[in-house]
Amino acid sequence: MSMDYKGAFQQAVEQVRSEGRYRVFADLKRQRGRFPQATLTRDDGSTKDIVVWCSNDYLGQGQNPVVLEAMHEAIDANGSGSGGTRNISGTTHHHVQLELELADLHRKDAALLFTSGYVANEATLSILYKILPGLIIFSDSLNHASMIAGIRNGGGARQIFRHNDLEHLEQLLIAAPADVPKLIAFESVYSMDGDIADLAGTIALARKYGALTYLDEVHAVGLYGQRGAGVAERDGVMQDIDIIEGTLGKAFGVMGGYIAGDADLVDAIRLYASGFIFTTSLPPALTAGAVASVRWLKEHNEVRERHQERAETLKRMFAEAGLPVMPSVSHIVPVLVADPVHCKMVSDMLLEDHGIYVQPINYPTVPRGTERLRFTPTPFHTDEMMRDLVSALERLWAHCNIARLGGVAA
Ligand SMILES: *Cc1c(COP(=O)(O)O)cnc(C)c1O
Repeated sequence: MSMDYKGAFQQAVEQVRSEGRYRVFADLKRQRGRFPQATLTRDDGSTKDIVVWCSNDYLGQGQNPVVLEAMHEAIDANGSGSGGTRNISGTTHHHVQLELELADLHRKDAALLFTSGYVANEATLSILYKILPGLIIFSDSLNHASMIAGIRNGGGARQIFRHNDLEHLEQLLIAAPADVPKLIAFESVYSMDGDIADLAGTIALARKYGALTYLDEVHAVGLYGQRGAGVAERDGVMQDIDIIEGTLGKAFGVMGGYIAGDADLVDAIRLYASGFIFTTSLPPALTAGAVASVRWLKEHNEVRERHQERAETLKRMFAEAGLPVMPSVSHIVPVLVADPVHCKMVSDMLLEDHGIYVQPINYPTVPRGTERLRFTPTPFHTDEMMRDLVSALERLWAHCNIARLGGVAA
């Protein structure tokens, strides 16, 4: 008897659907020069103008004329693809420039590009086990899936410490043998709750127990610090982090990932990491756009100030309306719904009835029971857009009978 493969796939999908977690992608066309506005195309081909409230293009750099011009120029000058892996003809002048630019941003010896932040985390963390035999990685329990993938795929020892709990981390460090290599892997801004790690405290523990530090600044690069190098720059501890990992796809508005660190360390990753070696490098237009974006953001701290002000304003407006805004200390503004079906329903109604696009965040991205809407106001979201958003949410909260601040349903 032959296996019912089709049935197995259908059953897997049905399982997700029955939990209210079936994902539907919104078909969007961003409108150049009108960020954060976009056009939604529905299944029947009809369209609707909407405001995007959940983009990780946090500063609108994906629309910055300086970035677009650099990309156009690179296409005209160099063509489309890079033509190979970095080793075999895929190292263009723009790649070299971008790595220098990123090393300078983080004040490190060297930087190494990957095709995405996911790949940077997976490739680097997994190969560190090979370069440092006996390595134990101490990993925050809320680390991103790409770090978890790297740590699992590396196949070495791992210890998970409770999220941002330095006492627990220290207990685990004390319990580990003194003479084995250790690495603490954590993030600065955790993008679902909007909380920020204690960098100085973590560095102090790393010193005390002889561990390296690996910091994912994906949701902070471009956004924090005088030149946009991240929370480590803001907190004045950049030189104390051994490996900084970032993305070019979020605040920098393009695509790609990287690590920055000591010259020998970066050279070793370059020579050993499969996820770096065996894949075609980024197209020159992307790397040229990223160079322009990183450079521009180094010089425009006022954009970061405006970004923080917008996030604070939205948090205040939600709180004043009694909406259950979660206690974020960053630019991320999550609002708790605490139910996957309601979360999806509110998101659907916002889109169809109010032209507001915010994706529901459900399990497995966040724990069950903490389903939420995650707003990412940019410097381009106006007061008027915020007022429209708050009044739409107030109506939907009443309509769906969702709990407000203080846990009381309307
Ligand atoms: C998005 C994300 C990544 C992956 O970066 P990409 O460039 O999108 O692949 C890594 N770490 C964290 C914390 C992220 O949120």
